[in-house]
Amino acid sequence: MNIAVVGTGYVGLVTGVTLSDIGHNVTCIDIDKEKVEIMKKGTSPLYEPGLSELMNKNIKQSRLFFTTNHAEGFANAEVIYIAVGTPENEDGSANLAYVEQVAKDIAQYVVQDLIVVTKSTVPVGTNHKIKTIITENLVNNIKFEVVSNPEFLKEGSAIKDSFEGDRIVIGADSSEASAIIEKINQPFGVPVFRTDVRSAEMIKYASNAFLATKISFINEISNICDRVEANVEDVAKGMGMDKRIGPDFLKAGLGYGGSCFPKDTKALIQIAGNVHYDFQLLKGVVNVNRKQQRMIIEKLLERMPDIKGKRIAVLGLSFKPNTDDMREAASIVVTNSLIDRGAEVIAYDPIAMNNAKKILAPEVEYSTSVKGAINESDAVLILTEWDEIKDIDLNFFSEMKYPLVVDGRNCFDLETMREHHIEYHSVGRPSIS
Ligand code: NAD
Repeated sequence: MNIAVVGTGYVGLVTGVTLSDIGHNVTCIDIDKEKVEIMKKGTSPLYEPGLSELMNKNIKQSRLFFTTNHAEGFANAEVIYIAVGTPENEDGSANLAYVEQVAKDIAQYVVQDLIVVTKSTVPVGTNHKIKTIITENLVNNIKFEVVSNPEFLKEGSAIKDSFEGDRIVIGADSSEASAIIEKINQPFGVPVFRTDVRSAEMIKYASNAFLATKISFINEISNICDRVEANVEDVAKGMGMDKRIGPDFLKAGLGYGGSCFPKDTKALIQIAGNVHYDFQLLKGVVNVNRKQQRMIIEKLLERMPDIKGKRIAVLGLSFKPNTDDMREAASIVVTNSLIDRGAEVIAYDPIAMNNAKKILAPEVEYSTSVKGAINESDAVLILTEWDEIKDIDLNFFSEMKYPLVVDGRNCFDLETMREHHIEYHSVGRPSIS
């Protein structure tokens, strides 16, 4: 089919590339000219394993195109995917300005009957609002349906998730429209769940809120483990063996970050509030997460109360491994707090340093290697569990003034750290001194 995808962020670009890979003709549209120029050359503007290779393959096979021009992108489109951002407003609600603009662009430029598919995460009722905006602004006399098809990919494994996802949710008012969207996705071989539009919109928020709840839950358990000298890793393993609980998303650490969980949890609290429902549990989840990002600083200060003038190495800056996404990363809160206390911060990340430089305080210095960051530092803080960091040569720590490591992601085995004579404080596990 001829498909247009509007917005080429993590979701839009992956959607466009994977849909072209299963045989559709796809035109990706973005208002960012620089980005479009880069993509036309076959280069991905964002780091996502396997994405550039797949992009190049499909550009060469003339199935994947890029443009900044909505009219050109919509000219032959039988289906248009909306994949623009829905960032957080100041009050926590979802900002729908980008989605609404796309709805207006669709109304202005479409020239044939089509289906509009919303991939962006949008509050319940938004797809019906999109339908109204298009209807009210429609220039040409065409028929259209709006379908909700929320995205569940994870940054860092987005390509794999597209081909091996757990489910594709399709919410539509018309069974013909859902059948077409199901057929488009058939080659992915992923189970499809069909429902109504509002339920589909809610499935996305409820899923992210539930996963965030699991993370905050295990983090609270880890804080108790710290105080009662239990080991949260064993606790999580023992819990996860119960099929009703499951082993995933029970990794204690510095809490969740990124572009989805922080904003989607707050948006769901707003969605509930709008219908006079106080979502108390989710408010707790958000508060726990806020505290958890600061926990590593508290652990460092317990051990080293005055960090003024101390050289602190920070390893891992992206919000999770295998992505260059810095949105809501714990490194923002942690480096700001270190700098406010007068510490010198030397940071390292395998991929996210360019993005980090745009976001972190200007005082942060950067090292081109793990070893360079650790060298001569007074303490090392680990914020992201990149493989390169987990596989670090532990002898590097002997090049510190004194080997003190505070690990927010439980990257190392306690016994190994003891054997290497490293003072080691991690999350919900006994300290090694
Ligand atoms: P993003 O911010 O990375 O990218 C959005 C893109 O849309 C940008 O390139 C921007 O230039 C472009 N854009 C904005 N307005 C436009 C317009 N009028 N026409 C064309 N392009 C326009 O966003 P993202 O992270 O890909 O997220 C997109 C949506 O998907 C959000 O609603 C998000 O919540 C949801 N989502 C994200 C993820 C994720 O892991 N990032 C996962 C699932 C769902």
